[in-house]
This record gives sequence, C-alpha cells and structure tokens, in this order.
Amino acid sequence: QAKKHGKDKFEMFEPAMRVAFQATIDMESDLRRAVVRHEFELRYQPIVRLSSGEITGVEALIRWLHPERGIVPPVEFIPLAEETGLIVPIGEWVLREATRQVAEWNTRRAGRPLTVSVNISAVQLEHTVLPDVVRSALDAAGLPADRLTLELTESLLVDHRPETLQRLHDIKALGVRLAIDDFGTGYSSLAYLRQFPVDIIKIDKSFVDDVVDEPTAAALTHGIIQLGRALQLSTIAEGIEHAGQLTSLAGGNCELGQGYYFAEPLTESAFDDLLFPAHSPNECE
Ligand code: C2E
Ligand code: MG
Ligand code: MG
Ligand code: MG
Repeated sequence: QAKKHGKDKFEMFEPAMRVAFQATIDMESDLRRAVVRHEFELRYQPIVRLSSGEITGVEALIRWLHPERGIVPPVEFIPLAEETGLIVPIGEWVLREATRQVAEWNTRRAGRPLTVSVNISAVQLEHTVLPDVVRSALDAAGLPADRLTLELTESLLVDHRPETLQRLHDIKALGVRLAIDDFGTGYSSLAYLRQFPVDIIKIDKSFVDDVVDEPTAAALTHGIIQLGRALQLSTIAEGIEHAGQLTSLAGGNCELGQGYYFAEPLTESAFDDLLFPAHSPNECE
C-alpha cells in the first residue's frame, strides 16, 4: 500500500516537473536566440543633482523585446542569463551600447557631459576578462573612463572570489567609478566600504520609500548620507517618487537621486527629447 502510495505520488509530480523543466529549456533557447538576434534594448533613467534638478547622469537598464511576450523586464531573465552564462555576451552588449549612446549625447552637450551607470552581475566579474571588455567598450565609444560607473550589488560582494577584488582594482585603474547598488539591504554593508574600492553609494529604494513617514528609515537614510560624506563618496538615492522624499533627502544633503518623481526609465528617443527639447516658436524669436 505504501509503495503504491509512493508510486502515485511520483506519477502525480512527474508531469508537473516535466512542464517546469520544459519551460526553462524553452526560455533558455529563447534567450540564446535573443542574443543572436539582438532582441534587447536599453532604457535610460536620469540621475539628478538634488539641489538643482540638473541631470548629471543616466542609468542604463536592459529590456528584452520578446517577439511573443512583448517587453520582458530584467528580473524575469537576468537570473537565467546568469545561470547559463548568457549574461556575458548580454552584459558586453549593454556596456558597448550604453557607452556609445552616452558618448553621442555628450558630443551634443559640450561642457556638460553625462556619466553613464551600467549594472554588472557577479558572473560577468568571474567569467570574463571584464577590465579588457570595459576598456574596449570605452575606446570604441570614445567615452572617457571617468564618465562610466559600474554598479555592483551587495550580493556580488558577499560571495566574491579572491580574484574579484583584484579585478575591481584593475577596473578602477582604468579610471572607471564603482558604485554599491541597493546599499543597506545586505547584511554586512559597512564591511564592503572598507574592503572594496567604491566611489558611490546608492541608497536602496526601501529606505527612500519610508524616509518621510518613518523616523527609523529617515535616521538610517540620513546616517548613510553622512557616512558617504565622511568617506568622500557620492550618494545617490534610488526610487524617489514624491516631492516630500526629495525635500527630506535634499535637506539631508544627499547629492544625487533618481526615481519616477523625475522620470521613469526612458527609451533612447524619449531621453533624447528630454535632453534636447525641440525649440518652441517663442524661443526662436
Ligand atoms: P537596479 O539597478 O537597482 O535598478 C533600479 C530599478 O528600480 C529599475 O528597475 C528601475 O526601473 C526601478 N526604478 C527606478 N525608479 C523607480 C521608482 O521611482 N519607483 C519604482 N517602483 N521603481 C523605480 P528595472 O529596470 O526593472 O531593473 C531591475 C534590476 O535589474 C536592476 O535594479 C538591476 O539589478 C537589474 N538590471 C537592469 N539592467 C541590467 C543589466 O543591463 N545588467 C544586469 N546585470 N542587471 C541589470
Ligand atoms: Mg538603443
Ligand atoms: Mg542599478
Ligand atoms: Mg538599485
């Protein structure tokens, strides 16, 4: 009886497992095809100086334009891209495309060049000669190294291999800046500030969300900003959605911010319109 029960259970689970497995296989072959056919696009979210509202930079955020599923956000395919190693060619494309695009915008913004931030996953740092890839992308784009920031998540730093630290120093030696993304969500954030050669702290959206209504979130946020100042790091607040959050952050001397309050991640042409608004008839007089 027990054996039969066990067998029934097995038969019950097997088809479901097969379906899940098949879905992963399909998605993986879809993703391989996407790499070959260049089904990716970048969105650009402005990074703003909080004291003046001036746009000083832009974060490049990937989207997959799937022929049947439409626009697929990164949370739905970056993990699979990391597992399969496809993040290596995808990440290289992101670096090349983002640096090329921002270098082009900068030629039209003489004297006020933007910086571009690109998200880097741990797998890219482990499995590629990332410093060479970065150097090559900068050269091809004609973008000065100090205009590029690589954003690293805390989880990347938690599980780092011995060679990771050396590779980060090699990237820094190019003149590229490093940012810790989603700062404050890891369990050992402060240790990374000692260990890794970072230039920028990105305060996680979860702190910014509650900065107006929750005294604890406000104290932590303002503490992170002061810590950044003491260490001579820039601070960028993520996920600013309301004027009240801006007031609190700017009042606490947070240098930079991004979020829907300023702009969502924009297509290349929408960002172009934001940077170079068409002249109204009045302006031409
Ligand atoms: P992230 O680097 O922390 O990027 C910020 C995310 O917050 C973006 O989501 C952005 O669209 C969203 N966001 C910005 N402002 C607001 C706001 O005011 N409210 C809300 N609710 N959300 C806001 P997105 O574009 O879906 O990207 C999610 C994550 O995917 C990124 O988090 C990053 O970790 C990863 N990612 C995106 N592009 C790439 C890439 O090219 N390579 C790699 N390895 N990861 C990427
Ligand atoms: Mg594009
Ligand atoms: Mg980021
Ligand atoms: Mg973030």
